[in-house]
Amino acid sequence: MKSIAVIGAGITGVTTAYALAKRGFAVTLFEKNRYAAMETSFANGGQLSASNAEVWTHWSTLVKGMKWMLKSDAPLLVNPKPSWHKLSWFAEFIASMPRYRHNTIETARLAVAAREHLFAWANAEGVDFDLKRRGILHIYRDQKGFDHAGEVSKLLAAGGLPRRAVTPEEMRAIEPTLAGTYYGGYYTESDSTGDIHKFTVGLAAAAERLGVRSLYGQDVQALRSDGSSASVTVRTDEGQQTHRFDGLVVCAGVLSRSFAAQLGDRVNVYPVKGYSITVNLLDEQSQAAAPIVSLLDDETKLVTSRLGRDRFRVAGTAEFNGYNKDIRADRIRPLIDWVQQCFPGVSTRQVVPWAGLRPMMPDLMPRVGRGRRANVFYNTGHGHLGWTLSAVTADMVAGVVQQAYAGTAPTVRVPAAALPQRG
Ligand SMILES: Cc1cc2nc3c(=O)[nH]c(=O)nc-3n(C[C@H](O)[C@H](O)[C@H](O)COP(=O)(O)OP(=O)(O)OC[C@H]3O[C@@H](n4cnc5c(N)ncnc54)[C@H](O)[C@@H]3O)c2cc1C
Repeated sequence: MKSIAVIGAGITGVTTAYALAKRGFAVTLFEKNRYAAMETSFANGGQLSASNAEVWTHWSTLVKGMKWMLKSDAPLLVNPKPSWHKLSWFAEFIASMPRYRHNTIETARLAVAAREHLFAWANAEGVDFDLKRRGILHIYRDQKGFDHAGEVSKLLAAGGLPRRAVTPEEMRAIEPTLAGTYYGGYYTESDSTGDIHKFTVGLAAAAERLGVRSLYGQDVQALRSDGSSASVTVRTDEGQQTHRFDGLVVCAGVLSRSFAAQLGDRVNVYPVKGYSITVNLLDEQSQAAAPIVSLLDDETKLVTSRLGRDRFRVAGTAEFNGYNKDIRADRIRPLIDWVQQCFPGVSTRQVVPWAGLRPMMPDLMPRVGRGRRANVFYNTGHGHLGWTLSAVTADMVAGVVQQAYAGTAPTVRVPAAALPQRG
């Protein structure tokens, strides 16, 4: 039995460990925190949103970024202080704009394929994660936003995802609690929401039942490979230790870039900060006044999820400011204000703020597949859609690992666009 180390127990690492264990590998999962899903996979927007597959590599993103650069409450904020990492990332972002259409279609295709795996795994393992299959409603206040969504819908349809335009009256019927005046919306019935942290922790337990060895509290210091064997050096409370394996898969979120560099690969993940608030719905009135259907407000770039009866999550904003997880009051305030405007009956007396770093590639496509060395693999860089795409990319990378060791064909086609860039 071949031994594989998986680095990182966020959603991508846990799904990868699970998919590998199901294919008969001896898997060891390394995580520096005491539990799974304590970093970016802790309190995200909760959306399993194929309808949010549009990649950001569009001129309008850059124009908005420049316009908003000095506005502290803007949905997109770029710290103008240059760094080589940021500059190289934006240069590659611009260079990948010609692939905007292709990458949006491909992301939609992957997101649709992901559902099948995720729901099957949750069912098989009895993972409860506050799943709500009530669709996602995109909302627009003006014709410009609505018309752009119409163009995006064509790309989503090409990726296998139908969604329909809805009038303001239909929007009210879909989600009666939503207040305000709207130009129109787009509704994707097949999308859903759930708690990423609960799912990841539940699947990590299922992976252990399949034989995965989970090593928490292990800060990975160094990864090495000579192409046929690999080593993982960790620092724990007991000191430094080196473990040996046949191969390894890097799923380390925003830290995947530095691990890739140690292994001779370039995976230019940038940490794009986002915020969420979890509004605790303490009374019956708030519970009735909060939406059940998930929303995506394209103008403010906010997404929502109803997690069980008594939690309402609102998340969004993008901040390019390096490896910085500070929770800024001036970035949280717009999220609370948004809840007050759109759902005036919801009490915001008890709100839990959070910030996380999206591991984002410049072309917005995850890196899934082999590295330079034959026994090194990546499943990382899922950006704003890690929860949505995780199950399919885990199955893909497990297929690639299996192919590398057994010479058998992977069960899922790996699109060329999703393979790691070399050089
Ligand atoms: C505000 C916000 C809202 C979002 N909303 C959505 C949404 O609605 N839908 C969606 O699909 N996606 C959403 N996302 C994106 C999604 O949350 C991420 O893409 C996903 O969580 C990334 O998972 P990951 O496993 O790659 O990274 P992580 O969850 O960060 O996991 C990486 C793991 O590697 C570990 N690690 C790193 N270095 C080491 C080391 N040296 N030693 C040991 N362990 C190490 C870390 O501790 C961590 O646990 C959102 C993100 C944010 C920030």
